[in-house]
Amino acid sequence: MTVILLEPSRPGNPIRLEEVVNAPLSACLFTGYVSSLLQKNAIGVEIVHARLRDWSSEQTATYLSQKSFRLLCVHAIYLWEKTRDIFELLSNLRERNITAHINLYGYYPTFAYKNILECFPGIDSVTVGEPEITILDLARCLLSEEDVSPLMNIPGLAVRGNGGKVVFHPRSPVCDLDQLPFPDRQDISLYQKKGIVTYILGSRGCYGQCTFCYLNPFYGKINQWRGRSAKNIFDEVFGLYAEDGITNFYFSDANFFGPGKAGKERAMTLAELFLAHNLEISFGFECRANDIEEHSISRLVMAGLTNVFLGLESGDPASLKRLKKHLTVEENKKAIQLLQEYGIEPTYGFIMFEPYSTLKSVRNNFEFLKEMDIMRIPAVTAHLLHHRQTIFQGTPDYQTMLPETPYSGCDMSFSHYETLYLIKDQNVETFSEIITHVCGTALSLMPKTFDCATHASTESVLSNTSALAMLNNTLITIFANTLQYFETHENTHSPKVIEEMSHRLNHEVRGVMESCNPLHTRAFY
Ligand code: SF4
Repeated sequence: MTVILLEPSRPGNPIRLEEVVNAPLSACLFTGYVSSLLQKNAIGVEIVHARLRDWSSEQTATYLSQKSFRLLCVHAIYLWEKTRDIFELLSNLRERNITAHINLYGYYPTFAYKNILECFPGIDSVTVGEPEITILDLARCLLSEEDVSPLMNIPGLAVRGNGGKVVFHPRSPVCDLDQLPFPDRQDISLYQKKGIVTYILGSRGCYGQCTFCYLNPFYGKINQWRGRSAKNIFDEVFGLYAEDGITNFYFSDANFFGPGKAGKERAMTLAELFLAHNLEISFGFECRANDIEEHSISRLVMAGLTNVFLGLESGDPASLKRLKKHLTVEENKKAIQLLQEYGIEPTYGFIMFEPYSTLKSVRNNFEFLKEMDIMRIPAVTAHLLHHRQTIFQGTPDYQTMLPETPYSGCDMSFSHYETLYLIKDQNVETFSEIITHVCGTALSLMPKTFDCATHASTESVLSNTSALAMLNNTLITIFANTLQYFETHENTHSPKVIEEMSHRLNHEVRGVMESCNPLHTRAFY
């Protein structure tokens, strides 16, 4: 074996409740695409999916140390406070005398490449941006028997140059995505066994420019939405359907629809292909509210659309403007209503708190959620009510917001990647902290029924519907009462207020959980 592509395990982090913001779904097929391109070019490759196999770092290191390979490419994810785990695994490999070239790729290394190469001498290079062609060039270069051109000449590859200075030349993203081979799915049976949906990447990038999003900056300066042709996507789906019996798909695109009329027409062409070939499939995708319109949605639903993730972000006009969402609250409402008319209960991207939130914007968000009647399931409600904007390197907001909060107990090697901030309005900051405690308590006590990161469902332990409704109502009532308290009192931001209220409200949530399912809840105390 010449090249190993590693998907390391991703240990959960009970402090951070966001399951997907650190690991964009649109990266989930990178490894498969790199693998298929290497194979197409006659380079031997193995995917080591430690995460899928539930391997510990030690198990992964032991497995790799028994292998012989020239290049190890690691899909690195920002794991919040546990990011160091990846680097410890790699230094463990070096201690076991693995001398192969080690390369990192993915969103996190793309934006943190300088810091990574400066701090970790055991990492030889970082692939910046789209990984396929850069890793192919790297593998070819390392495998060449002849005089190799220096790695520093490979576009898209960041390396330490002369004197240890980090050198990097950007690479343009692939123009015609139809030219890429379909992704390698070596582990497809394991995915199926775990109930993980089959992902399809139909497009890359987005025509939006939201200030909190790094999906476009990942592709470099020339960033725009690029779609595979409907026929090319259909061919891949049809192969998986006919040969592997797969009937449930999810598009991992940042934005399923391309811009304007052409974007919707492409989606319709895909729907017509599914219908013309009588494919009995279901599928889902993620998109912006302004792309939801009846003509295309009706055909997509007929073709099997059952699941839509809508990036609403806010129910407050001022926040939508600040986030440069280029959407109105009315457009968000219309999209939800239209999807519901077609029998689709969407899931949502929603930012309750951002650095410039005011009590008015929080109130607008809350009234929006109530009016739309989308807080019906406690796990969803807890997420909607507390979600706070994260500010990662690569996002436009990262450029404009200097860190204001010193990192306590955080490893400085990784601290450049995320800006921690206090909400400008101190009362909103306090309110956010209390609500985060409460929702965090509820989420930690709740059985996990749906994994946002894998779209895998498990049977609910808490299946009693009246218990679910009671917990849901408790969360909504706590939010409503606390918000009203903050709206009618001054100087609510003292640490004492936070402590007392958090303690009392957490107790309330625990009490409800205890009465819902005593046996299950006790296990978490
Ligand atoms: S619409 Fe979604 S994917 Fe596009 S820039 Fe905004 S947040 Fe990112």
